[in-house]
Amino acid sequence: MSNRTIAAIATPNAPGGIGTVRISGDRAVEIASKVFRPVSGKNLCDFKGYTAAFGGVYDNDEKIDEAVCLVFRAPKSYTGEDVCEISCHGGLYITKRTLRAVLDAGAEPAEAGEFTKRAFLNGKIDLAGSESVMALIGASGKQAAAAALNTLDGNLSKKIRECADGIIGVCASLAAWVDYPDEDIEDISASQMLPVFEKTKKELSEIVRRYDCGRAVTDGIDTVIVGKPNVGKSTLMNMLTGFERSIVTDIAGTTRDIVEERIMLGEIILRIADTAGIRETENVVENMGVSLAKRRLERAELVLAVFDTSVPLNSDDLDIIEQCKAKKSVAILNKADLPATADREVIENAFAFTVELSASTGAGREKLEQAVAEIMMTNEFDPAAACLTSERQRQCCIRAMGHIDEAIAAIQGGVTLDAVNVCADCAIDALLELTGEKATAAVVDEVFSRFCVGK
Ligand code: GDP
Repeated sequence: MSNRTIAAIATPNAPGGIGTVRISGDRAVEIASKVFRPVSGKNLCDFKGYTAAFGGVYDNDEKIDEAVCLVFRAPKSYTGEDVCEISCHGGLYITKRTLRAVLDAGAEPAEAGEFTKRAFLNGKIDLAGSESVMALIGASGKQAAAAALNTLDGNLSKKIRECADGIIGVCASLAAWVDYPDEDIEDISASQMLPVFEKTKKELSEIVRRYDCGRAVTDGIDTVIVGKPNVGKSTLMNMLTGFERSIVTDIAGTTRDIVEERIMLGEIILRIADTAGIRETENVVENMGVSLAKRRLERAELVLAVFDTSVPLNSDDLDIIEQCKAKKSVAILNKADLPATADREVIENAFAFTVELSASTGAGREKLEQAVAEIMMTNEFDPAAACLTSERQRQCCIRAMGHIDEAIAAIQGGVTLDAVNVCADCAIDALLELTGEKATAAVVDEVFSRFCVGK
């Protein structure tokens, strides 16, 4: 079957040692042969799969670079189609010029994620695996990368398939009963069905729970730094980011906007905001910053509450302690390098996690790392277990769990078995949507639209 042969630059849009133009489709090798001429004088069209050639890249008859061309033959390639990868020198101009020559020779520009979408449509990878390709590209730490690779290897899909198979087994018995009501088919009993549904629900909720703590190492935690003015919030932010980002002054109320940053604290990513100091104030502009900070605090998943231990606590500190009560929060006893006068017991009694720190010297950073890992339970994150890598996958699990709950309620409520069958079918659909076995074209398009061009 003939299809569009697509091409795109697969390497970042920046100067580098190598820039790769990837071509995929029925005409990939023929198109590459118009642009790339091996020094050996052989024609690229005669090359087998898994071979490489050194040669020149030509735009018409003008030589524009020297390059290596890799040839993959269908189905043994990333996309499952014929693929050529021309790796030229990684200058911005050269790579773009090579792509233009490839497009002039008959290829069409690839859409975002189109290579991986073709891999999916050709059965080389499932939908969950496709998403983990993006997670792997975006991974900023060892654990995040290991988890994404594990999903790419198919561990998540295998686990989800096992869950689906358990329910499919129940459905097969139910279907026989529903389809042949007049036959003498024995009712499948509640004691046969309930354990399957309950076991599956437990496994899915464990997968979802792991995603929630795994998100700290993949997407990051929405974090806010709060504290009254001058306790050292901006200094802490700068210590965490490693460079001067916020304006640090000793005039109370100088940080009025929220500065946002993604920082790595050990293996955890904090999406962190340094806010205007929270305190009672008459200043209108400062007041706007303060109300923004309060809203941010309500929304945040993690609060770093900073206190200046070199001065006694006041009502603003107590107000902050009060606001942190319902949140996952770590109290930071800052300015530990100065003599302590604050009543730290008040803070220690109010917070489950308290860390002594000097934001200006950096002492105590490791203790903060440990406290955050403990509070976000990332110590329990096991990248080798089946890991969800997207919110879409999480939603599929949640939907499946909801339908399983309905099935359990129907069984326990003594509702007819047809109703149980309908709920079980819906749960299976949700699970197979996760792996992509039953995803609609719209879902597939949505997944790949979030990819980058060239992947
Ligand atoms: P913010 O208003 O809470 O953002 O406070 P800043 O970060 O602007 O800090 C206020 C003042 O406290 C500045 O003069 C900082 O240099 C100082 N400061 C911040 N952290 C420390 C610390 O750990 N030790 C000492 N000695 N001074 C600090």
